[in-house]
Amino acid sequence: DTLAPADFEKLAVLGHGNGGTVYKVRHKVTSTIYALKVNHNDSDPTTRRRTLAEINILRRATDCPNIVKFHGSFEKPTGDIAILMELMDSGSLETALKTNGTFSESKLSEVAREVLNGLSYLHARNIAHRDIKPSNILVNNKNEVKIADFGVSKLMGRTLEACNSYVGTCAYMSPERFDPEVYGGNYNGFSADIWSLGLTLFELYVGHFPFLQSGQRPDWAMLMCAICFSDPPSLPDTASSEFRGFVECCLKKESGERWTAAQLLTHPFLCKEMDSC
Ligand code: ADP
Ligand code: MG
Repeated sequence: DTLAPADFEKLAVLGHGNGGTVYKVRHKVTSTIYALKVNHNDSDPTTRRRTLAEINILRRATDCPNIVKFHGSFEKPTGDIAILMELMDSGSLETALKTNGTFSESKLSEVAREVLNGLSYLHARNIAHRDIKPSNILVNNKNEVKIADFGVSKLMGRTLEACNSYVGTCAYMSPERFDPEVYGGNYNGFSADIWSLGLTLFELYVGHFPFLQSGQRPDWAMLMCAICFSDPPSLPDTASSEFRGFVECCLKKESGERWTAAQLLTHPFLCKEMDSC
């Protein structure tokens, strides 16, 4: 069946992003509730290409419990493309941090396990997400954690990927993306995702972006210098040694030394409460 804009009733705005708006919608015939992402300006060829690439990647990643489920797409009369996906009704980890404050270690261990499950699925299929951060990780009322926003994701080829593509959110970019010669040579989107996950968990634990003091306004040049020239940030003493060790494995400046998603899934930080791996 083909989907059409008229099939859906807009109920609320769930979020705004770079180039679009995400709505909570109801499918009129079945009364099913979904999220609908409408990227504006899809008449612009570059934006359009990105949106089609996003859909292409979502299509390839439909059977992982930790990736937001894709339900189809359609074009609006304006030329904008709408992406229909499952509703994650508890919002993003960014909103959770703002409303409920910092996360406990046991909660973060759970978040890390679910995000890594999603990342290992993607990486095994040659997909680098390239924009892992709190606002792109969503939660639903069953407390399931899923990766969303494949707007800058990439299906990695066999050849070296250009490392000068400044996609994603600058603050969460890994050192080798600024200076590939020094930090690991070939920019590898997979280990860059692990770096971003490390920063994300760090931020959710301390309540502010790792390279900044609490309340400090980000200055892009200063931030880039800190990412490239200072030691990776380390967690405060309140964190357990397992958690500190885990974040260290994610935040190795040398991309080749960073653990892979599959390796991190066996880390004691994820296993200490479960006794399962
Ligand atoms: P952008 O590429 O513009 O950043 P996102 O896909 O990240 O777009 O969506 C922007 C915001 O909309 C997210 O941070 C989140 O708050 C909300 N959102 C996106 N997808 C969903 C969804 N499936 N369910 C609930 N909220 C969502
Ligand atoms: Mg986003």
